[in-house]
Amino acid sequence: MTPTLPAPSSVPSAPGVRHHDATRGTGGGRLPLRADLADEVPYGAPQLDVPVLLNVNENPYPPSDAVVASIARRVTQAAHGLNRYPDREFLDLRADLADYLAVESGVRLGPEQLWAANGSNEVMLQLLQAFGGPGRTVLSFAPTYSMYPEYARDAMTGWVAGRREEDFTLDPDRAAATVAEVRPAVILLASPNNPTGTALPLATVEAVLDAAARVEVDGAAGASPVVVVDEAYGEFRRRGVPSALELLAGHPNLAVSRTMSKAFGMAGARVGYLAASRELVDALRVVRLPYHLSAVTQAVARAALEHSDELMAQIGSLRAERDATAEWLRGRLLDGRPLEVADSDSNFVLFGRFADRHAVWQGMLDEGVLIREVGPEGWLRVSVGTPQEMETFKAALVRVAGLEEAR
Ligand SMILES: *Cc1c(COP(=O)(O)O)cnc(C)c1O
Repeated sequence: MTPTLPAPSSVPSAPGVRHHDATRGTGGGRLPLRADLADEVPYGAPQLDVPVLLNVNENPYPPSDAVVASIARRVTQAAHGLNRYPDREFLDLRADLADYLAVESGVRLGPEQLWAANGSNEVMLQLLQAFGGPGRTVLSFAPTYSMYPEYARDAMTGWVAGRREEDFTLDPDRAAATVAEVRPAVILLASPNNPTGTALPLATVEAVLDAAARVEVDGAAGASPVVVVDEAYGEFRRRGVPSALELLAGHPNLAVSRTMSKAFGMAGARVGYLAASRELVDALRVVRLPYHLSAVTQAVARAALEHSDELMAQIGSLRAERDATAEWLRGRLLDGRPLEVADSDSNFVLFGRFADRHAVWQGMLDEGVLIREVGPEGWLRVSVGTPQEMETFKAALVRVAGLEEAR
């Protein structure tokens, strides 16, 4: 006989436990969904099938035939061993990433200082699993990447958004004061920032690192917060703008996150990575799922890295197209006033402000051009595409928003 359990409604609540009606969908089933997830929907920029896709900051150029051939060769090799689990430590890939960063930024790191996962999104979640958690807080400075609060939520970590200035820069003194006040366990600084494109001077990152060094995470004699500089768009920074990789020596609590999704043109491969002290990387090795990076993913990433020279060459033309797009936008009038355009060290440009940005976004979509409705009210973001795509974007924007040329 099945023992009779009390009806759920008669089960006494544990003190402090919030009960929530987690009934979802039309099936009428009740799932014990976490209360803080009950009103959440899956994240995602619209994936629509239109001719000009300028909404998620991808590289518009598909991999060359030479890159495709290398990927096919390495994946074939890997396929012969797919009965076995992949290399859990993937030190070969980590060494290739270290070599790439040495060329890209002039900073030489050891393979043990590199880490990779399925997109920098996963690296970021691992960081919060290791250094965040219940009772701890993540601090960032808005407007910034819309995924950060979701990582915090998924890692059951509190979320505090400090403020950037009107021009989207970060004031070092105000940022340091916010760190002292919030006493976070993890600080996320996107540089270049998404959706604004703003890069942080190293002096600002250092001011945050100094402020963090004076905070004790779990009270007296606790360790200091981890500072993560998210350089997803690092390769697009303008000449003379340094990478926070230069600050790694001497800052064991600093992590610099990068990705192959943007400049590298490998968004579909899902490879993000991080550079930090060996101790910090070792902490991530504790929380990663076993064999999280498949043998196929490792093969694809290593094949693409063989061609980094070719891919780096392409970045120059994307940067030039970015600057040309920003300049063109600055030369247009909206209702008699010049458009506002944020300085960008990324492969996108944030511009506005529109009284009804959704109408402009929709009008562009109707013209076959998908851009992004993101950032502070009134602004829109366009990713840098091919020269032809940018011509289509400009012509459509003039028609949809009724822009005039400044003279
Ligand atoms: C696109 C982006 C990433 C990259 O995410 P992946 O998971 O590596 O594709 C990370 N941070 C920011 C700010 C981004 O805009």
